[in-house]
Amino acid sequence: MTLHVTFAGGKGGVGKSTVASSVMYYLRNVVGFVAVDADADAPNLHLIFDVRKPVRVRTLEDSKIAIIDQKKCIKCGLCYQKCPYKSIEIKNGEYLIDPMTCEGCGVCSYFCPNNAIKLKKTKTGDIILYETKYGFKLISAQLDVGRPNSGKLVTIERLWANEIANEEGHRYVIVDAAAGIGCQVIASITGARHVFLVAEETPTSLHDVIRAYKVAEHFGIKSSLIINKVGMTKTSLIKRWAYDYGIEVIGEIPYDSSVPRALSMMKPLPEAFPKSKASKALREVSESVLDILKGL
Ligand code: SF4
Ligand code: SF4
Repeated sequence: MTLHVTFAGGKGGVGKSTVASSVMYYLRNVVGFVAVDADADAPNLHLIFDVRKPVRVRTLEDSKIAIIDQKKCIKCGLCYQKCPYKSIEIKNGEYLIDPMTCEGCGVCSYFCPNNAIKLKKTKTGDIILYETKYGFKLISAQLDVGRPNSGKLVTIERLWANEIANEEGHRYVIVDAAAGIGCQVIASITGARHVFLVAEETPTSLHDVIRAYKVAEHFGIKSSLIINKVGMTKTSLIKRWAYDYGIEVIGEIPYDSSVPRALSMMKPLPEAFPKSKASKALREVSESVLDILKGL
């Protein structure tokens, strides 16, 4: 049976992908896994692992946009008045729908007195399978501009990763979730056996990591905490919170200027700067992650 674990953090910019990619790098020869980049709005693991050529691409077409049949339109303006997303404009006397902002809610079609508006299925995004040079496969997703529904893309990514892990006899799927606690993150955490929360010592990160923790708690999933960029501030709010809630802190990664340099080189940090203090701390984090994986 394949087991899935998720790296989540709530706030963007806390270094979650650096932590997740470094753990994947350290574990690549120790356990079999399929990696998932579950940030369909802004995927970046394929850049960190420097993979550009997809092995296979699946397209999801389940979004909808409204289309006006100009021959049937009697120019009453009701659709323009009722659209909750202000996606209809008037140009040269014609009512036109902006496909970039139309959410496919159907309100315009409901109110149109002459049945001039239809909802048409459109592409939501792509789910892409890559082979990394590090010996594991990576599934990423790319949401098309303006499309909603990225939670569904992430669910398909996860299921596809499970399928590949099963076929290839790998025990784990490791998911790097998006920032926030929206549908993408919920889809990343659903079914996980453990959540690794990544946070930094700032009040905003604490606020957001609590929200991510509550999502995991809602699903009855145990969380551990990794504190990143330690030394950047002088607070210990996160540690105090973790202590109060009985959340194990499995690593503290020092603030390190080699992190942005590794990102600019499109390499996982431990490969680019194996002797950096952050890499050394991440090796210890990977050992703790491994212990947790083995205990699942
Ligand atoms: S489907 Fe909804 S969002 Fe799109 S144009 Fe109609 S009312 Fe506006
Ligand atoms: S509601 Fe229908 S008929 Fe009225 S302007 Fe819009 S498309 Fe035309």
